[in-house]
Amino acid sequence: MKTERCILHSDLNNFYASVEMLRHPELREKPLAVCGSMEDRHGVVLAKNGLAKAMGVKTGEVFWQAKKKCPALERVTADFPAYLRVSEKVRAVYDRYTDLIEPFGIDECWLDVTASRDLFGSGRKIADEIRETVKREFGVTVSVGVSWNKIFAKLGSDMKKPDAVTEITPENYRETVWRLPAADLLFVGAATAKKLSFMGISTIGDLANADEDRLVSELGKWGSTLHRYARGEDDSLVRPRGETREAKSIGNSLTCYRDLVNEDEVRILMILLSDSVAARLSETDLGRARTVKITVTDNELRHYGKQGKLERPTRSGKEIADCAMKLFREVYPWRLPVRAVGVSVCDFSLGAEQLDLFSDYRKEERAEKLDAAIAKLRGKYGNLAVQRGTVLKDKRLADLDVKGAHIIHPDGGYEGK
Ligand SMILES: [Mg+2]
Repeated sequence: MKTERCILHSDLNNFYASVEMLRHPELREKPLAVCGSMEDRHGVVLAKNGLAKAMGVKTGEVFWQAKKKCPALERVTADFPAYLRVSEKVRAVYDRYTDLIEPFGIDECWLDVTASRDLFGSGRKIADEIRETVKREFGVTVSVGVSWNKIFAKLGSDMKKPDAVTEITPENYRETVWRLPAADLLFVGAATAKKLSFMGISTIGDLANADEDRLVSELGKWGSTLHRYARGEDDSLVRPRGETREAKSIGNSLTCYRDLVNEDEVRILMILLSDSVAARLSETDLGRARTVKITVTDNELRHYGKQGKLERPTRSGKEIADCAMKLFREVYPWRLPVRAVGVSVCDFSLGAEQLDLFSDYRKEERAEKLDAAIAKLRGKYGNLAVQRGTVLKDKRLADLDVKGAHIIHPDGGYEGK
């Protein structure tokens, strides 16, 4: 018989604010917001401590708005290199138990400890040891989910926090997981949640017990994937850190100096990216693309990814952008502001229309449009600098990037199959 896997998902609680309270003990008893840099006059709240949360301070709002609700609110500027240092120390604790560690953002990791149990005891025992060790050695807390698949392990770490372990077993998942809202499931975006609710599906249990054909007819292949997730049939592997997947694809990504807080802002970047991808595609002999992939990175550096088929093979920036936005709405839950987006295309076909006498002309036209759009964006957002793909990086994140934290990668992230 195949051994059941044992997967942990470990999540540093309230991470940025916890690190700041360690560095500034005098702020421990005060409501605290961790904000974007001062040079950005609109400094968005990236994280807050429990006291600020109790006063209604929300992630993604600008500091002065938060201060209205909570006049005593203290502010510190986010120091990403410091957070990364703590994050790496905590990962070194995980390393004591397994080499199968897949980061999900700066503060979360999946650990496959299936083979570690002979040495260290049960998954719950390992989770408890990790929890105790991290607290004792670094003064921050984690919550850990223990399960046989990544999706349920992640749900487990969300269920009880801070400083807690939740085990989701084949015996208890119906009572624990199935009563949660379907939107709590990882990778259920706002549009997906809405579609599910129209179908009368409000909990994960509803989703698990829904008719698969009906889900597929409403959501396509994604419906079948979510059905499996809800039933605990996610068999995706914990990918060892640093593993990259090679794929023949053309992609581009953008990181912003300021987090994007609504869909309109995201749409502008998706259009820019799709145009640049279309322009690059037209410079190759790959033909037209049939598949679009997006990645979205939130401001705690978690990646969301999804791919979808185009209605027909295309080289059009607009068609790529339309598909990219659809995927975004399906997969992004908007729990946090968006830091970076990536668009790539793959699955190329050399159709009869491959020869295009006007391609040179169109290339130029696109390049002009792209420049004009970037100029417009800069005008609109002032010192929000828009950066092109892999050439330029977010200065605030430069230190992270050098150390290999995966900031943006058009083909990276965890993808629904
Ligand atoms: Mg966390």
